[in-house]
Amino acid sequence: MKFKTLLIQICAILLVSSCARMNYAVRQEGYDKLKQPIIRVRVLHTKDKVEVGAKGDCVVRTWDVNDEKSAYFSAVNVVVKPDGPLLALYDLKGNRLESKLRRVTVVAEKKSWLWLDKRKFRGIFEFYPDGHDTMYVVNVLHVEDYLRGVLAPEIGRRKPEELEAVKAQAVAARTYALVTRDKYPDKEYDLVNEILDQVYTGVEGEQRLCDIALKQTRGEVMKVDGKLIDAFYHSTCGGHTDNIEDVWEKDPKSYLQSVEDDTFCNWSKYYTWDEEFPASTLLSNIRTYLKSSGRTHSRLGSQLTDIQIESRSTGGRITSLGIYTEAGTTNLGKDIIRWAFARPGLPGILRSSDFDLELKRDAANRLSTVSIHGRGYGHGVGMCQCGAIGRARAGFYYDEILTHYYTGVVIEKLY
Ligand SMILES: [Zn+2]
Repeated sequence: MKFKTLLIQICAILLVSSCARMNYAVRQEGYDKLKQPIIRVRVLHTKDKVEVGAKGDCVVRTWDVNDEKSAYFSAVNVVVKPDGPLLALYDLKGNRLESKLRRVTVVAEKKSWLWLDKRKFRGIFEFYPDGHDTMYVVNVLHVEDYLRGVLAPEIGRRKPEELEAVKAQAVAARTYALVTRDKYPDKEYDLVNEILDQVYTGVEGEQRLCDIALKQTRGEVMKVDGKLIDAFYHSTCGGHTDNIEDVWEKDPKSYLQSVEDDTFCNWSKYYTWDEEFPASTLLSNIRTYLKSSGRTHSRLGSQLTDIQIESRSTGGRITSLGIYTEAGTTNLGKDIIRWAFARPGLPGILRSSDFDLELKRDAANRLSTVSIHGRGYGHGVGMCQCGAIGRARAGFYYDEILTHYYTGVVIEKLY
């Protein structure tokens, strides 16, 4: 019992040559347990302490500023905490085991998952300091294991007859993950687990149907001219997807062109939608956005007098919107319209930039209410996820779904 209450057994590691050290380090750190290719996902960026451990035993390794290393064989969780510009390691009773660390890794001894606070993950954890009293946690794991935690949050709980859509999503998510792997070259991670990249929930998000889809498409990606494509996707196109250059200030891409989706996504609750803003609220939202994004707002007065749709894209999204006030006209373009209309403090931006306007005026002919009749949800570039599900229900195969939304792509098996 006395031994158990110590909780952690310290194993000193003494290494004599740099060569032996490298081999030993790679083997002992547990990375050899990971199948290739691996991906490094930032799963947490925090100022708080984090409890970490394994389902069974785990090995915790630490590196200090002189690169000296200690290893802890632990049957219980440990706590990692930012420590000024570095990290510190504690046991669960709050006793400090080590401080001034520049890196900590945690590897499960047997093939099991790891805990990060109360969340389960596959693979390995790495902890790095990030500025003063802040750290980030990287989950290093096989790409297919990562995708198990991505697929369900991205496409929702699906039925067996929708499997081909889940397979299409698997190939799109795999391609997206692999092409964006060098997005943060100065950091120790490839991707973050947020909507900025792809939502990744670890083991909690895994679903059987998604695992089947991943198995049946293992290693498959989309390419054009031998290169991985930027596989953008969105919830609901509302009838048409759009050219990438009409949605963002980006160069055209042969595979991200506007395509018709007929009525395949009309089952989505966001196929059409309505939203209403008091004119003063909308003007205030636009002002807040322009200020916070550093854009000019000098022609934005105190009274919204008119809004005019000046141009639309091939797919129907608004590419230029004139905002008229007593002080002049401000133009909002492309996907920025969705952000400019967002309510401050709320996470939701306007569902899409494909909409019609209905302006209501009061007895004094002042603009009082702006009604928006919209179509679709998301940016509208690449695959329409609800359209893909609609097509799977209608009997389309996943490769037919992908080549519909991504013009001219070739599906290739990488591993
Ligand atoms: Zn659609």
